Amino acid sequence: MSTKRDYYEILGVSKSASQDEIKKAYRKVAMQFHPDRNPNNTEAEEKFKEAAEAYEVLSDADKRAQYDRFGHAGMNGGRGGFGGGGMNMEDIFSNFGDIFGNDDIFGSFFGGGRAGGGGRRGRGTRGSNLRVKIRLTYEEIAKGANKKIKVKKYVPCQHCGGLGAKDKNAFQTCNTCGGSGQVRKVTQTFLGQMQTVTTCPTCHGEGQIITSKCGHCKGEGRMYGEEMVSIDIPAGVQEGMQLSMSGKGNAGERGGAPGDLLILIEEEPHPELQRDGLNVAYDLHISFPDAVYGTQVEVPTIDGKAKIKIPAGTQSGKIFRLKGKGFPSVNSYEKGDQLIHVNVWTPQHVSAEERAMLDKLQSSDNFKPNPEKSEKGFFEKVRDIFS
Ligand SMILES: [Zn+2]
Ligand SMILES: [Zn+2]
Repeated sequence: MSTKRDYYEILGVSKSASQDEIKKAYRKVAMQFHPDRNPNNTEAEEKFKEAAEAYEVLSDADKRAQYDRFGHAGMNGGRGGFGGGGMNMEDIFSNFGDIFGNDDIFGSFFGGGRAGGGGRRGRGTRGSNLRVKIRLTYEEIAKGANKKIKVKKYVPCQHCGGLGAKDKNAFQTCNTCGGSGQVRKVTQTFLGQMQTVTTCPTCHGEGQIITSKCGHCKGEGRMYGEEMVSIDIPAGVQEGMQLSMSGKGNAGERGGAPGDLLILIEEEPHPELQRDGLNVAYDLHISFPDAVYGTQVEVPTIDGKAKIKIPAGTQSGKIFRLKGKGFPSVNSYEKGDQLIHVNVWTPQHVSAEERAMLDKLQSSDNFKPNPEKSEKGFFEKVRDIFS
């Protein structure tokens, strides 16, 4: 690599230039050397990249201060930054939005040539998404949960920092595309000459090729391993829902972006409660004397136990509602209820002594079914619950 020129000199501004002056100067240089205006001109492309690198540093107050103090030596930290292999074209173009802003200067100058396919893809290949299942209890769903799970996946190779190369000198600019990651082809059509831009087949759009591969990952830049992932699950999720954590999937090849981690929610069945949307149903069994006299019982809820009063004369089939004791909604402030379904227990076998007592009761008028008009029937109860 040739010795680096001074960033101020590249942009043609003084050391005391304002941010505005720097921006203007960069525009001028970038337009002059833009690859679309200088096809197949590697010198222009180098100048273009050089200007982008200078602007990247001088437009950032912290980086500029660092550069003013240490010069280029202060800029060598980290991969993918300045100093090392320079910036890639995708970074440069992605920065244009804020420089050229609304005046659409590039659109009109370069005929929107960048907008179509064939743009440089940047480093490496993106990693694939990963899918994991997480099983949650009702209690965890009600409150939200944090789960730490070990995910087996591709992780960046630690020996080469994920780049796949033996060291930082093991890269070479791709000869096929001259480092741009794209190849231009001119074809004659009946409309005249047409220029098409496609991804370079040699470097797959990366602009450089690895001359000496990292021995640990065989040039892939990643290895099979595992990572502890901490997953925050919001309250109210449901069986079958899928959450996604961006960038927590498989590492990409040769420094490519990682895929996402997709988390599929499964509900652990509760031994006593049954979920129905936001509501929770519970079947309560009480004895016949308790139904007659009334009683107090403890029922399980998704948030500990709750005491409820069963009034005297409670009929089998009665439904009590614990307001707000259901599940929270995952995307609103709504909360469900717990519905307690009363079942009066009928004994399956009776002793001779019990039989004698029952015989007595049987003849009592009080024990003959006599539902009041106000007593809600089964269908009305069902309608009440779903209304
Ligand atoms: Zn290439
Ligand atoms: Zn490696």
